Amino acid sequence: MSLDEITSRIAVAENRAGRVPGSVKLIAVSKVQPPERVEAVLKAGHRLFGENRVQEAAGKWPGYRERFDGLSVHLIGPLQTNKIKQALDLFEAIHSVDRPKLASKLATEVQARGTCPELFVQVNTGEEPQKAGVLPDDLDSFVKQCQDLDLPISGLMVIPPVDEEPSLHFALLRKMAERNGLEGLSMGMSSDFESAIALGATHIRVGSGVFGERVPT
Ligand SMILES: *Cc1c(COP(=O)(O)O)cnc(C)c1O
Repeated sequence: MSLDEITSRIAVAENRAGRVPGSVKLIAVSKVQPPERVEAVLKAGHRLFGENRVQEAAGKWPGYRERFDGLSVHLIGPLQTNKIKQALDLFEAIHSVDRPKLASKLATEVQARGTCPELFVQVNTGEEPQKAGVLPDDLDSFVKQCQDLDLPISGLMVIPPVDEEPSLHFALLRKMAERNGLEGLSMGMSSDFESAIALGATHIRVGSGVFGERVPT
């Protein structure tokens, strides 16, 4: 387990960037990882995790919540509208708000419950056709649309194209967040979280760096 190593690299990156120590949140991405690895990280005291599939999260986190206090689990993968209720039962945050239909159905359900998870709008900064996320040109009006629905948006999330320099996308995301008055920046993974921190990430999503390589299922 390399939780300690990642934690100390985060501290160095925060310090180098002049960020407040401890201000960057480490989301340990536990998707597909075997239970013994997840439990080791839980037993080491880490409490913030990320999953990219609702179904997979439903199979493990309710059980861990009975054994470990203070857990926070974030959905970092796509959300289908027919899984909204389940997602609201499972997650403290959703990083993948990315289309009007999802926003309006989320708003309805959140109103009915009277509680709302932390929400991030995913931006497809690379304008990749196969990738989820709002296109950069549509972002400002989409954020406004969410706010008009009384959906509190706390920030933006990006997954940069694999073959491009991630820091360009991190810088772009930051600009977009500033322009919209949003503070949260969910960006940076195992291979690039230090540059994300330098560019203002508030939440980094690190999987293999914490747990080891994902074993294919
Ligand atoms: C899997 C995943 C990560 C973590 O990736 P690593 O390279 O293992 O750190 C981060 N963000 C999202 C959206 C993911 O699906």
